[in-house]
Amino acid sequence: VGLTRHFKAKKPSLFARAPLVRAVENVSFKVRRGETFAIVGESGCGKSTLSRLLLRLIEPTAGTIRFEDRDITALPAEEMRRLRRRMQMIFQDPYASLNPRMSVGELIGEPLSVHGIANGKEKAARVAELLAKVGLLPDHANRYPHEFSGGQRQRIGIARALACGPSLLIGDEPVSALDVSIRAQVINLLEDLKAEFGLTIILVAHDLAVIRHTSDRVAVMYLGEIVELADAATLFSRPLHPYTRMLMAAIPVPDPRARSAEPITEGDLPSPTDPPPGCLFHPRCPHARERCRQEHPSLRDSASGHAVACHFAEEIAAGQSAGLALPP
Ligand code: SF4
Ligand code: MG
Repeated sequence: VGLTRHFKAKKPSLFARAPLVRAVENVSFKVRRGETFAIVGESGCGKSTLSRLLLRLIEPTAGTIRFEDRDITALPAEEMRRLRRRMQMIFQDPYASLNPRMSVGELIGEPLSVHGIANGKEKAARVAELLAKVGLLPDHANRYPHEFSGGQRQRIGIARALACGPSLLIGDEPVSALDVSIRAQVINLLEDLKAEFGLTIILVAHDLAVIRHTSDRVAVMYLGEIVELADAATLFSRPLHPYTRMLMAAIPVPDPRARSAEPITEGDLPSPTDPPPGCLFHPRCPHARERCRQEHPSLRDSASGHAVACHFAEEIAAGQSAGLALPP
Protein backbone atom coordinates (compact mmCIF):
# COMPACT_ATOMS: atom_id res chain seq x y z
CA VAL A 1 0.00 0.00 0.00
CA GLY A 2 1.32 3.42 -0.95
CA LEU A 3 4.66 1.96 -1.98
CA THR A 4 7.20 4.56 -2.94
CA ARG A 5 10.86 4.26 -3.76
CA HIS A 6 13.08 7.21 -4.53
CA PHE A 7 16.70 6.80 -5.52
CA LYS A 8 19.31 9.48 -5.38
CA ALA A 9 20.56 9.90 -8.92
CA LYS A 10 24.24 10.50 -9.67
CA LYS A 11 25.17 14.05 -8.80
CA PRO A 12 25.56 16.14 -11.93
CA SER A 13 28.28 18.20 -10.23
CA LEU A 14 29.95 18.44 -6.85
CA PHE A 15 27.82 21.34 -5.65
CA ALA A 16 24.46 20.43 -7.08
CA ARG A 17 21.90 18.55 -5.01
CA ALA A 18 21.49 15.00 -6.26
CA PRO A 19 18.17 14.82 -8.08
CA LEU A 20 15.64 12.30 -6.81
CA VAL A 21 14.53 9.55 -9.14
CA ARG A 22 10.91 8.69 -8.54
CA ALA A 23 11.23 5.00 -9.44
CA VAL A 24 7.97 3.96 -7.80
CA GLU A 25 5.43 6.51 -6.55
CA ASN A 26 2.55 5.74 -4.21
CA VAL A 27 1.69 2.38 -5.75
CA SER A 28 -1.02 0.29 -4.08
CA PHE A 29 -2.41 -3.06 -5.12
CA LYS A 30 -3.39 -6.39 -3.68
CA VAL A 31 -2.45 -9.72 -5.19
CA ARG A 32 -4.94 -12.51 -4.48
CA ARG A 33 -3.74 -15.89 -3.40
CA GLY A 34 -3.45 -18.28 -6.35
CA GLU A 35 -3.68 -15.71 -9.13
CA THR A 36 -1.23 -14.61 -11.77
CA PHE A 37 -0.86 -10.86 -11.43
CA ALA A 38 0.95 -9.10 -14.26
CA ILE A 39 2.79 -5.78 -14.02
CA VAL A 40 3.37 -4.28 -17.45
CA GLY A 41 5.15 -1.19 -18.72
CA GLU A 42 8.10 0.07 -20.72
CA SER A 43 11.61 -0.34 -19.38
CA GLY A 44 12.24 2.38 -16.82
CA CYS A 45 8.65 2.48 -15.59
CA GLY A 46 9.63 1.12 -12.19
CA LYS A 47 8.29 -2.41 -12.51
CA SER A 48 11.58 -4.13 -11.62
CA THR A 49 12.05 -1.77 -8.67
CA LEU A 50 8.52 -2.57 -7.57
CA SER A 51 9.09 -6.33 -7.74
CA ARG A 52 12.25 -6.00 -5.65
CA LEU A 53 10.41 -3.83 -3.13
CA LEU A 54 7.82 -6.55 -2.64
CA LEU A 55 10.53 -8.99 -1.55
CA ARG A 56 12.39 -6.27 0.33
CA LEU A 57 15.48 -6.88 -1.76
CA ILE A 58 15.46 -3.08 -1.65
CA GLU A 59 13.75 -0.99 1.01
CA PRO A 60 10.82 1.33 0.31
CA THR A 61 11.08 5.08 0.91
CA ALA A 62 7.47 5.00 2.10
CA GLY A 63 4.55 2.61 2.16
CA THR A 64 3.84 -0.85 3.55
CA ILE A 65 4.15 -4.38 2.25
CA ARG A 66 1.93 -7.17 3.49
CA PHE A 67 2.49 -10.84 2.80
CA GLU A 68 0.12 -13.59 3.93
CA ASP A 69 -1.78 -11.24 6.27
CA ARG A 70 1.37 -9.90 7.85
CA ASP A 71 3.04 -6.50 7.61
CA ILE A 72 6.59 -7.33 6.51
CA THR A 73 7.74 -3.75 5.90
CA ALA A 74 9.87 -3.61 9.05
CA LEU A 75 10.49 -7.30 9.65
CA PRO A 76 14.01 -7.87 11.06
CA ALA A 77 16.58 -9.31 8.62
CA GLU A 78 16.66 -12.76 10.21
CA GLU A 79 12.89 -13.20 10.06
CA MET A 80 12.87 -11.80 6.54
CA ARG A 81 15.48 -14.36 5.54
CA ARG A 82 13.28 -17.16 6.82
CA LEU A 83 10.26 -15.70 5.06
CA ARG A 84 12.10 -15.68 1.73
CA ARG A 85 11.61 -19.44 1.58
CA ARG A 86 8.01 -18.58 0.79
CA MET A 87 8.65 -15.72 -1.67
CA GLN A 88 11.09 -16.31 -4.49
CA MET A 89 12.22 -14.39 -7.53
CA ILE A 90 13.03 -15.50 -11.07
CA PHE A 91 15.30 -13.09 -12.87
CA GLN A 92 15.37 -11.82 -16.42
CA ASP A 93 18.82 -13.09 -17.28
CA PRO A 94 19.13 -16.65 -16.05
CA TYR A 95 22.81 -16.71 -16.91
CA ALA A 96 23.74 -13.71 -14.78
CA SER A 97 21.70 -15.00 -11.87
CA LEU A 98 23.32 -18.45 -11.77
CA ASN A 99 26.84 -18.83 -10.34
CA PRO A 100 28.83 -20.29 -13.27
CA ARG A 101 31.16 -22.24 -10.96
CA MET A 102 28.36 -24.20 -9.36
CA SER A 103 26.93 -27.34 -10.95
CA VAL A 104 23.22 -27.39 -11.64
CA GLY A 105 22.77 -29.83 -8.76
CA GLU A 106 24.59 -27.46 -6.39
CA LEU A 107 22.60 -24.47 -7.63
CA ILE A 108 19.26 -26.14 -7.07
CA GLY A 109 20.38 -27.80 -3.84
CA GLU A 110 21.87 -24.67 -2.27
CA PRO A 111 18.58 -23.19 -0.99
CA LEU A 112 17.76 -26.60 0.53
CA SER A 113 20.90 -26.54 2.69
CA VAL A 114 20.76 -22.78 3.39
CA HIS A 115 17.28 -23.10 4.83
CA GLY A 116 18.08 -26.44 6.49
CA ILE A 117 15.42 -28.28 4.50
CA ALA A 118 17.43 -31.24 3.20
CA ASN A 119 20.99 -32.50 3.02
CA GLY A 120 22.95 -35.45 1.62
CA LYS A 121 20.92 -38.16 -0.09
CA GLU A 122 17.63 -36.48 0.64
CA LYS A 123 18.86 -33.29 -1.00
CA ALA A 124 20.05 -35.18 -4.09
CA ALA A 125 16.66 -36.82 -4.38
CA ARG A 126 14.89 -33.44 -4.06
CA VAL A 127 17.15 -31.98 -6.76
CA ALA A 128 16.34 -34.85 -9.13
CA GLU A 129 12.65 -34.34 -8.45
CA LEU A 130 12.90 -30.58 -9.10
CA LEU A 131 14.80 -31.18 -12.35
CA ALA A 132 12.01 -33.47 -13.52
CA LYS A 133 9.38 -30.87 -12.57
CA VAL A 134 10.96 -28.28 -14.86
CA GLY A 135 11.52 -30.71 -17.73
CA LEU A 136 15.25 -31.44 -17.28
CA LEU A 137 17.02 -34.79 -16.83
CA PRO A 138 18.52 -36.20 -13.61
CA ASP A 139 22.08 -36.28 -15.02
CA HIS A 140 21.83 -32.55 -15.80
CA ALA A 141 22.65 -32.08 -12.10
CA ASN A 142 26.34 -32.71 -12.80
CA ARG A 143 26.61 -30.15 -15.58
CA TYR A 144 27.27 -26.40 -15.45
CA PRO A 145 25.07 -23.48 -16.51
CA HIS A 146 27.15 -22.65 -19.61
CA GLU A 147 26.32 -26.06 -21.07
CA PHE A 148 22.66 -25.12 -21.36
CA SER A 149 20.54 -22.99 -23.69
CA GLY A 150 18.83 -19.83 -22.42
CA GLY A 151 15.51 -21.61 -22.03
CA GLN A 152 17.10 -24.49 -20.10
CA ARG A 153 18.93 -22.04 -17.85
CA GLN A 154 15.67 -20.34 -17.04
CA ARG A 155 14.28 -23.80 -16.16
CA ILE A 156 17.25 -24.21 -13.78
CA GLY A 157 16.46 -20.81 -12.25
CA ILE A 158 12.84 -21.87 -11.80
CA ALA A 159 13.85 -25.18 -10.16
CA ARG A 160 16.11 -23.24 -7.77
CA ALA A 161 13.28 -20.83 -6.94
CA LEU A 162 10.93 -23.76 -6.29
CA ALA A 163 13.37 -25.64 -4.07
CA CYS A 164 12.16 -24.19 -0.76
CA GLY A 165 8.49 -24.63 -1.53
CA PRO A 166 7.53 -20.96 -2.02
CA SER A 167 3.93 -19.78 -2.13
CA LEU A 168 4.78 -16.65 -4.16
CA LEU A 169 6.96 -16.49 -7.28
CA ILE A 170 7.90 -13.14 -8.76
CA GLY A 171 9.19 -13.34 -12.34
CA ASP A 172 10.99 -10.16 -13.44
CA GLU A 173 10.71 -10.44 -17.22
CA PRO A 174 11.50 -14.16 -16.99
CA VAL A 175 11.22 -14.72 -20.75
CA SER A 176 12.23 -11.43 -22.36
CA ALA A 177 15.87 -12.56 -22.79
CA LEU A 178 14.74 -15.78 -24.48
CA ASP A 179 14.03 -16.59 -28.12
CA VAL A 180 10.46 -15.80 -29.04
CA SER A 181 10.00 -19.46 -30.02
CA ILE A 182 10.62 -20.75 -26.50
CA ARG A 183 8.94 -17.99 -24.48
CA ALA A 184 5.58 -19.74 -24.54
CA GLN A 185 7.17 -22.98 -23.28
CA VAL A 186 8.62 -21.27 -20.22
CA ILE A 187 5.40 -19.36 -19.54
CA ASN A 188 3.40 -22.59 -19.87
CA LEU A 189 5.80 -24.31 -17.50
CA LEU A 190 5.18 -21.57 -14.93
CA GLU A 191 1.44 -22.00 -15.36
CA ASP A 192 1.71 -25.78 -14.88
CA LEU A 193 3.84 -25.36 -11.76
CA LYS A 194 1.43 -22.76 -10.43
CA ALA A 195 -1.43 -25.25 -10.69
CA GLU A 196 0.61 -28.12 -9.26
CA PHE A 197 2.03 -26.25 -6.26
CA GLY A 198 -0.78 -23.76 -5.70
CA LEU A 199 1.53 -20.83 -6.34
CA THR A 200 0.70 -17.16 -6.59
CA ILE A 201 2.64 -15.56 -9.44
CA ILE A 202 3.55 -11.95 -10.09
CA LEU A 203 4.74 -11.61 -13.66
CA VAL A 204 6.60 -8.48 -14.70
CA ALA A 205 6.71 -7.86 -18.45
CA HIS A 206 7.35 -5.02 -20.87
CA ASP A 207 4.82 -6.08 -23.44
CA LEU A 208 1.26 -7.26 -23.22
CA ALA A 209 1.73 -10.13 -25.67
CA VAL A 210 3.68 -12.20 -23.14
CA ILE A 211 1.08 -12.03 -20.39
CA ARG A 212 -2.04 -11.97 -22.52
CA HIS A 213 -3.00 -15.61 -22.10
CA THR A 214 -1.64 -16.26 -18.65
CA SER A 215 -2.53 -13.44 -16.31
CA ASP A 216 -5.68 -13.14 -14.23
CA ARG A 217 -5.25 -9.43 -13.53
CA VAL A 218 -2.99 -6.78 -15.01
CA ALA A 219 -1.50 -3.55 -13.66
CA VAL A 220 -0.13 -1.16 -16.27
CA MET A 221 2.67 1.08 -14.99
CA TYR A 222 3.89 4.38 -16.36
CA LEU A 223 6.71 6.42 -14.81
CA GLY A 224 6.48 4.71 -11.45
CA GLU A 225 2.69 4.80 -11.13
CA ILE A 226 -0.10 2.36 -11.86
CA VAL A 227 -2.25 3.94 -14.58
CA GLU A 228 -4.68 1.05 -15.13
CA LEU A 229 -5.62 -2.06 -13.19
CA ALA A 230 -8.19 -4.63 -14.32
CA ASP A 231 -8.78 -8.30 -14.81
CA ALA A 232 -7.09 -9.51 -17.97
CA ALA A 233 -10.24 -10.19 -19.97
CA THR A 234 -11.56 -6.68 -19.27
CA LEU A 235 -8.25 -4.99 -19.95
CA PHE A 236 -7.79 -6.69 -23.30
CA SER A 237 -11.37 -6.19 -24.44
CA ARG A 238 -11.90 -2.69 -23.05
CA PRO A 239 -8.63 -0.90 -22.32
CA LEU A 240 -9.36 2.54 -20.86
CA HIS A 241 -6.06 4.36 -20.47
CA PRO A 242 -4.54 5.87 -23.63
CA TYR A 243 -1.17 4.40 -22.60
CA THR A 244 -2.62 0.88 -22.32
CA ARG A 245 -4.18 1.35 -25.74
CA MET A 246 -0.81 2.38 -27.08
CA LEU A 247 0.80 -0.78 -25.65
CA MET A 248 -1.94 -2.84 -27.26
CA ALA A 249 -1.42 -1.23 -30.60
CA ALA A 250 2.20 -2.41 -30.35
CA ILE A 251 1.24 -6.10 -30.06
CA PRO A 252 2.22 -7.72 -33.34
CA VAL A 253 -0.72 -9.13 -35.26
CA PRO A 254 -0.53 -11.81 -37.95
CA ASP A 255 -2.88 -9.92 -40.28
CA PRO A 256 -1.84 -6.30 -40.80
CA ARG A 257 -5.38 -5.36 -41.89
CA ALA A 258 -6.58 -6.28 -38.39
CA ARG A 259 -4.23 -3.77 -36.81
CA SER A 260 -5.58 -1.46 -34.18
CA ALA A 261 -6.95 1.85 -35.29
CA GLU A 262 -5.42 3.57 -32.27
CA PRO A 263 -2.65 5.89 -33.42
CA ILE A 264 0.72 4.88 -32.07
CA THR A 265 1.88 7.62 -29.81
CA GLU A 266 5.24 9.14 -30.52
CA GLY A 267 7.81 10.17 -27.99
CA ASP A 268 10.06 8.71 -25.36
CA LEU A 269 9.61 8.17 -21.68
CA PRO A 270 10.26 11.50 -19.90
CA SER A 271 12.97 11.57 -17.26
CA PRO A 272 11.85 10.18 -13.91
CA THR A 273 13.95 12.85 -12.15
CA ASP A 274 11.94 15.60 -13.77
CA PRO A 275 8.42 14.31 -14.30
CA PRO A 276 5.98 16.56 -16.18
CA PRO A 277 3.26 18.32 -14.14
CA GLY A 278 -0.33 17.10 -14.35
CA CYS A 279 -0.82 13.74 -16.00
CA LEU A 280 2.59 12.10 -16.40
CA PHE A 281 1.52 10.78 -19.79
CA HIS A 282 0.36 14.11 -21.26
CA PRO A 283 3.49 14.82 -23.37
CA ARG A 284 2.83 11.60 -25.31
CA CYS A 285 -0.94 11.39 -25.11
CA PRO A 286 -2.91 12.03 -28.33
CA HIS A 287 -5.93 13.05 -26.21
CA ALA A 288 -4.21 15.50 -23.87
CA ARG A 289 -6.11 18.70 -23.04
CA GLU A 290 -5.48 21.66 -20.78
CA ARG A 291 -6.75 19.90 -17.66
CA CYS A 292 -4.22 17.09 -18.26
CA ARG A 293 -1.34 19.57 -18.08
CA GLN A 294 -2.57 20.98 -14.76
CA GLU A 295 -4.15 18.19 -12.76
CA HIS A 296 -2.65 14.84 -11.90
CA PRO A 297 -5.25 12.08 -12.39
CA SER A 298 -5.36 9.58 -9.53
CA LEU A 299 -6.22 5.93 -9.94
CA ARG A 300 -10.02 5.70 -9.60
CA ASP A 301 -12.59 2.96 -10.06
CA SER A 302 -14.24 3.23 -13.44
CA ALA A 303 -16.28 0.04 -13.30
CA SER A 304 -16.20 -2.70 -10.71
CA GLY A 305 -12.68 -4.07 -10.55
CA HIS A 306 -11.46 -1.73 -13.29
CA ALA A 307 -9.36 1.22 -12.16
CA VAL A 308 -7.84 3.90 -14.36
CA ALA A 309 -5.83 7.09 -13.87
CA CYS A 310 -7.04 9.30 -16.71
CA HIS A 311 -9.46 12.26 -16.56
CA PHE A 312 -11.14 11.36 -19.84
CA ALA A 313 -10.80 7.57 -20.00
CA GLU A 314 -14.49 6.71 -20.55
CA GLU A 315 -15.03 9.45 -23.08
CA ILE A 316 -12.00 8.41 -25.12
CA ALA A 317 -12.93 4.73 -24.98
CA ALA A 318 -16.51 5.44 -26.04
CA GLY A 319 -15.40 7.62 -28.91
CA GLN A 320 -12.92 5.11 -30.25
CA SER A 321 -14.31 1.68 -29.51
CA ALA A 322 -15.88 1.57 -32.95
CA GLY A 323 -12.53 1.81 -34.66
CA LEU A 324 -10.54 -0.32 -32.26
CA ALA A 325 -9.78 -3.78 -33.60
CA LEU A 326 -7.69 -5.92 -31.31
CA PRO A 327 -5.70 -8.91 -32.42
CA PRO A 328 -7.34 -12.26 -31.59
FE1 SF4 B 1 -4.14 11.56 -21.76
FE2 SF4 B 1 -5.20 13.44 -20.21
FE3 SF4 B 1 -5.86 10.91 -19.85
FE4 SF4 B 1 -3.46 11.78 -19.19
S1 SF4 B 1 -5.38 12.40 -18.24
S2 SF4 B 1 -3.92 9.91 -20.26
S3 SF4 B 1 -3.06 13.25 -20.83
S4 SF4 B 1 -6.29 12.15 -21.65
MG1 MG C 1 13.61 -4.30 -15.58
